[in-house]
Amino acid sequence: MDGTLSQNDISHVVDADRAHVWHHLTQHKPFETGEPRVIIEGKGMRVWDQNGREFLDAVSGGVWTVNVGYGREEIANVIRDQLIKLNYFSGSAGSVPGALYSEKLIEKMPGMTRVYYCNSGSEANEKAFKMIRQIAHKRYGGKKTKILYRDRDYHGGTIGTMSAGGQDERVMQYGPLAPDFIRVPHCMEYRAQEGWNPESESYGEYAANLIEEVILREGPDTVGGLCLEPVTAGGGVITPPEGYWPRVQEICRKYDILLHIDEVVCGIGRTGTWFGYQHYGIEPDFVTMAKGVASGYAAIACCVTTERVFDMFKDNADDPMNYFRDISTFGGCTAGPAAALENMRIIEDEGLLDNTTAMGARMMTNLHNLMEKHRVVGDVRGKGLFCGAELVRDRATKEAVSEKEIAQVVAECGAQGVIIGAANRSIPGLNNVLCFSPALIATPDDIDQITDAVDVALGKVFG
Ligand code: PMP
Repeated sequence: MDGTLSQNDISHVVDADRAHVWHHLTQHKPFETGEPRVIIEGKGMRVWDQNGREFLDAVSGGVWTVNVGYGREEIANVIRDQLIKLNYFSGSAGSVPGALYSEKLIEKMPGMTRVYYCNSGSEANEKAFKMIRQIAHKRYGGKKTKILYRDRDYHGGTIGTMSAGGQDERVMQYGPLAPDFIRVPHCMEYRAQEGWNPESESYGEYAANLIEEVILREGPDTVGGLCLEPVTAGGGVITPPEGYWPRVQEICRKYDILLHIDEVVCGIGRTGTWFGYQHYGIEPDFVTMAKGVASGYAAIACCVTTERVFDMFKDNADDPMNYFRDISTFGGCTAGPAAALENMRIIEDEGLLDNTTAMGARMMTNLHNLMEKHRVVGDVRGKGLFCGAELVRDRATKEAVSEKEIAQVVAECGAQGVIIGAANRSIPGLNNVLCFSPALIATPDDIDQITDAVDVALGKVFG
């Protein structure tokens, strides 16, 4: 640590935090006696806590966000210069970094043309939902208002995005939710849905056909949108099975359903391409992104769409209702796009997409080795530097290990100085997945340090 905070300063910070800060996703009871974790500093792949303990961060800021790593002075400098010039003006006007970032971003997204700025993943998804709903009213006489979402996917913490929330444990206490969000089954081959006959079709085709069944049940003329993560993140690192995406695309075209890809986690390099959907040849109507856009150096999110969608909001220009009547106050902050532009430059100049592919392959090899060594590892999945290991008590029944055991593995890794993640826990049997999403700058030694720690932790917890 750089020593700018004295031990007294740090103790004060920890006391203030314990007294007043409500941590995310956290039960606070243990802090009545124990100390909350306060992260003081970060550099590259590593962070330091209040006790000066160094950790290798295998989850990019806890929630797959800090894609280019910590302590990037070049991003800080760009933000500083921009803030001095112009910190803010409402997004009803343009800005220099907003225009330049949109141009650069669109270069990476053939087929897409328009960027709507806002500031969180949830918000970006809400924008897409609102656009789909407005199109339903404008084009389809208010009929195509239903939006399909998938079991195990997550799209945010607002009431609207929770209504499209496929992880029951994050939703069940917050109802009533918004109407006309309809769930479709997940596509996880490891826990295949009943009724699949592997002789007649791939699991991907089968899982996609289950979406069609829902559309037919609901009535195709009532369904306006389908919102999916390219690779499901917090729901268990679920990579799509072969054959899934082409069929999903076909179904959307067949029933005139707008395809919304939530790239909040996969976007901006996490899987080794700029966007996760680009692995699968998908042509989306909406792409939403947030976390990796500026690697957490500033809050920024984007809802990106096509000229076809955009044009629908330009016709009948004399009608005062006929434009997107939406604003996001902080979508007008200029620090976000300024940081995002620099973030993208770094990824390009440092070849981080290729590094992600190479390091992701190394991570998967290491995880497969762990699977051979530890029977508790039932499945490993991943795309680029976005990997998961599912822990099961019994490989035949696939019975999940307990929430407590998953927490012990995470804690044992922490004791070795490695912060790993776990898919959101609570409902036994669904959230038994260890998550690894280090920054895209990871080296072979970093990857090995992460999986070595997991190896030791699995040995300690499961013998
Ligand atoms: N979509 C996905 C796939 C996410 O993982 C998240 C956040 N974990 C969100 C949306 C919501 O983003 P935010 O927390 O920025 O609102």
